[in-house]
Amino acid sequence: VDYVFFDIVPGRVRVAVRLRPRNAEESAADADFADCVELQPELKRLKLRRNNWDSDTYEFDEVLTEFASQKRVYEVVAKPVVESVLDGYNGTLMAYGQTGTGKTYTLGRLGEEDTAARGIMVRAMEDILAEISLETDSVSVSYLQLYMETIQDLLDPTNDSISIMEDPKTGDISLPGATVVEIRDQQSFLELLRLGEAHRFAANTKLNTESSRSHAILMVHVKKSVKGRDSGLSGENGSTAHMTRTSKPPMIRKGKLVVVDLAGSERINKSGSEGHTLEEAKSINLSLSALGKCINALAENSAHVPVRDSKLTRLLKDSFGGTARTSLVITIGPSPRHRGETASTIMFGQRAM
Ligand code: ADP
Ligand code: MG
Repeated sequence: VDYVFFDIVPGRVRVAVRLRPRNAEESAADADFADCVELQPELKRLKLRRNNWDSDTYEFDEVLTEFASQKRVYEVVAKPVVESVLDGYNGTLMAYGQTGTGKTYTLGRLGEEDTAARGIMVRAMEDILAEISLETDSVSVSYLQLYMETIQDLLDPTNDSISIMEDPKTGDISLPGATVVEIRDQQSFLELLRLGEAHRFAANTKLNTESSRSHAILMVHVKKSVKGRDSGLSGENGSTAHMTRTSKPPMIRKGKLVVVDLAGSERINKSGSEGHTLEEAKSINLSLSALGKCINALAENSAHVPVRDSKLTRLLKDSFGGTARTSLVITIGPSPRHRGETASTIMFGQRAM
């Protein structure tokens, strides 16, 4: 089938699981072992091996094998959310998983050398740019890193302590002081992502940390003017003067898309960590478990979504739950050596279902 319609129910999190292929090392080292998971994409099922004989079966909204193309992943995970953002709703796209399982590959690949390799961020911008008019509409982005409960501006390295503001009336979240860049074409967006990555690397070198220890957050604001029904007809029947009098002024639709490349979900081994690494681990655990609690609350239709527990969830407050669409992709590797981490990633995804 070429045309597939994926809808996302507002206020509920859609969860896809993506398995990355074995890398060269795993192919060599684990050649004689079976993968720790077995996927049944047509049944939307994943089997996690318990031992040679038994496995546990889990269901997801979508199961993406190691053969799933970036295009298919975009269509399944992101496209319905991007479309609802163009319709004036907020939306969130997130990748959760152990470091090295493909979060950045899925969300952030630029695909400069090979357009088929482009990830979700680049494809989302392409779809948005195709749908808006540069005369009447606008799309602008901010790019941030959230590390140890501090928000840094990846577009301005001098700006390393951004606060989160909530409009008391509308509940809208904003980041006063964060750099906002208007995007007019795909090339300038790619340059901006590259600049953000370079700043992220420099900031993390200075902090003596790895990018896997922080969350990278891209915020995309779309403002789109929609002509009223009357003004839409005026060109067709030619009575422009009359129609101008009765037509409504254009409506502005504002949507916000937040794309979050989450910090690695792996448990940090205490014996191997020293200094601020333990503090980092605590901070990551805090934000990921706060996120898990919110996702769980949405899944259970609970009236109370505990967004206040971390900066990550406060930042996402107006972009998930309510009328917002949220899509989560959990990324896993095939290696039996990481079965424990894979199991905990799967459980995180299951809590959202
Ligand atoms: P993470 O961001 O979760 O730490 P990465 O996205 O950096 O992981 O991926 C780790 C490695 O695996 C990279 O070399 C990446 O190119 C490769 N990789 C990840 N997912 C896939 C995939 N679906 N197909 C091919 N290679 C992948
Ligand atoms: Mg990464």
